[in-house]
Amino acid sequence: MKEDIISAMRAIAGEASVLTDPHDVAPHMIDWRKRHSGTAACVVFPRSTEQVSALLAYCNEHRVKVFPQGGNTSVCGGSVPDHDGNSVLVNLAKLNRIREVNAPNNSITVEAGCILADIQSAALDADRLFPLSLGAEGSCQIGGNLSTNAGGTNVVRFGNARDLVLGLEVVLADGRIWNGLRTLRKNNSGYDLKNLFIGAEGTLGIVTAASLKLYPKPSARATAMLAFDDVKDAVSQGLSLQGQFPGELVGLELISRSEFEISLKHAAKTRNPFEATPEWIVLVELAASSGTSEALTERLTDYLRDAFEEGVVRDAVVAANEQQRADLWKIRHSVTESNVREGMGLTHDIAVPTYRIPDFIGQASEALKQHYPDATPVVVGHMGDGNLHYIAMFSHDYWAAVDDKQKTQLELSHVLYDIAAAMGGTFSAEHGIGALHVPEMAKYKDAVEIELMQSIKRLFDPLDTMNPRRVVPN
Ligand SMILES: Cc1cc2nc3c(=O)[nH]c(=O)nc-3n(C[C@H](O)[C@H](O)[C@H](O)COP(=O)(O)OP(=O)(O)OC[C@H]3O[C@@H](n4cnc5c(N)ncnc54)[C@H](O)[C@@H]3O)c2cc1C
Repeated sequence: MKEDIISAMRAIAGEASVLTDPHDVAPHMIDWRKRHSGTAACVVFPRSTEQVSALLAYCNEHRVKVFPQGGNTSVCGGSVPDHDGNSVLVNLAKLNRIREVNAPNNSITVEAGCILADIQSAALDADRLFPLSLGAEGSCQIGGNLSTNAGGTNVVRFGNARDLVLGLEVVLADGRIWNGLRTLRKNNSGYDLKNLFIGAEGTLGIVTAASLKLYPKPSARATAMLAFDDVKDAVSQGLSLQGQFPGELVGLELISRSEFEISLKHAAKTRNPFEATPEWIVLVELAASSGTSEALTERLTDYLRDAFEEGVVRDAVVAANEQQRADLWKIRHSVTESNVREGMGLTHDIAVPTYRIPDFIGQASEALKQHYPDATPVVVGHMGDGNLHYIAMFSHDYWAAVDDKQKTQLELSHVLYDIAAAMGGTFSAEHGIGALHVPEMAKYKDAVEIELMQSIKRLFDPLDTMNPRRVVPN
């Protein structure tokens, strides 16, 4: 069977686009954090939508499971196959043309395998901004970003990936191509199908191209790091910044002292901008498409001076130039890699209503202290969206000695997810479900919602060809 699959894939995509050598295949079979792995008959790199269509038609007809993969930066076990071994992993890296940049229409049409950073650069070349931005932007692909409805650091102003999409091209599980690549701002002609594929994590089809919104390129930026003794003050100051700079506030990130120290410890070329490390840090960024950075920075500085005098902000570092701005962001963008080096971090990608963040952090820390005293609470989050990455950090040695790791992880996570749920929050804000969070879907989602999702899955993929056992519980 395996040989038949490989021959069919070679016939469709060409010999050079199908990997079978264990050495070549290996990096695609393990996830970024090296916590999830699988096997497949081969890895295929289609170069056109037609090739994706042909390979899905073959796989669907021959009952071969298909696992789509983008940049393989998923942090919930979504980007690697299961252990069946007779499946096909489809990596979109070679489907990576920018089809059109339409500056007058403020749109860009790209293929799924385009790296996010390359799309940002293409937009800047046309004097425009593509605002989706996240730590993995140098390697994640837009197809993966849309399939996970990625968030990142600009959501507070521009929304998440879903909000940036005008149209999609998708190959369905049976190989049919749906060309929904429109670039309209308004289109109420029936069900909005594109939104089903966004965030579906490859369970309903393979996204092959997307038309995306562009924005004016900012001419001015102002960036600052603020220090707080108390998370309540950090959040109330963040809410007040949102009111003070509507339309200009593009980033509002919260970092705990523990996370700040981990990032400074492990990330190269970072330095502590504060004389005394604060308990809580807020990274704030303003951007505007008119005026100068100097003028915007002055307005932010004036505002912060007042806040400082009121005694809420303990200290503040305002970036005076582009290098200082990059240095502040480097600390924030280095947290994921640094956490991997620090220990075994059990990450919880929760969201609660923004004003409940201090309550969540208080209750979660109390619960950890009581039930898991060996865990250090580490917090980093997109505060403006109410989205926290709440990490229970264990030392590598401690975690190596834990008997039933899966059970421990599940129990600990549910303690934290219960706290978020009681506040009207969610267990998955931006990373998605993948293979990791399917049990939480069953536990925390409404039964009617799950039934509807199962019906949609059956309608789009009746033979369960696409990314089986992901996202929707059976
Ligand atoms: C350092 C770091 C920082 C991160 N920061 C953030 C952050 O701030 N915000 C955030 O939201 N996430 C973040 N992530 C998580 C991750 O980067 C995102 O989920 C990203 O959107 C995944 O894109 P990818 O191309 O790597 O997709 P992959 O990881 O390869 O795949 C993700 C899912 O999408 C499916 N998929 C991929 N391509 C397609 C396609 N073309 N069609 C259909 N399905 C497809 C896969 O099957 C899988 O289910 C971070 C990860 C890292 C490592």
